Amino acid sequence: MGEQIKIVPLGEVDGGIMMEVATQVSIVFGITATVNEMQRCHESAYNHQRNQYSAEALLKFMEGIRGETPHRLLGITDVDLYIPDLNYVFGLADKSGAVAVVSVSRFKKGNRKVVERAVKTAVHEIGHTYGLGHCHDNKCVMYFSYNLSDTDYKGKEFCIKCQKILGRRNIT
Ligand SMILES: [Zn+2]
Ligand SMILES: [Zn+2]
Repeated sequence: MGEQIKIVPLGEVDGGIMMEVATQVSIVFGITATVNEMQRCHESAYNHQRNQYSAEALLKFMEGIRGETPHRLLGITDVDLYIPDLNYVFGLADKSGAVAVVSVSRFKKGNRKVVERAVKTAVHEIGHTYGLGHCHDNKCVMYFSYNLSDTDYKGKEFCIKCQKILGRRNIT
């Protein structure tokens, strides 16, 4: 068994979203992606003042369950996430590590797009774990989404420039 992307539901998350994210992430990165057992860690990441959950605390938790394994871990949650400088985030990645988290909580407006938005955000955050930064091409999946229309406009693929950077990272 080589390196995998392990997708972990953090609390209750729609099973259809989990399966589709696993399928699409596996295609885009050319790596096996599996859906794993649910974890209830989000309770400890709750911030009472903000009534939101700390994305950074969730990344730390993911780092803990990843341990020494070679796998990348992607947490998906239905709770609303924040980082200290922003009102909310759709997702967050440890840029020097191998863990990332995505929240579907704000993706439900016009809910036919929930799955598509989750997939794009998952690919974006995993892209960060491969060392990719934000891209100026607003069609590229690495474009930073300020809001949902940015997410809806961009694709789930990398532009040629980002593909080249990824290619150099020796994904097999
Ligand atoms: Zn980003
Ligand atoms: Zn790009």
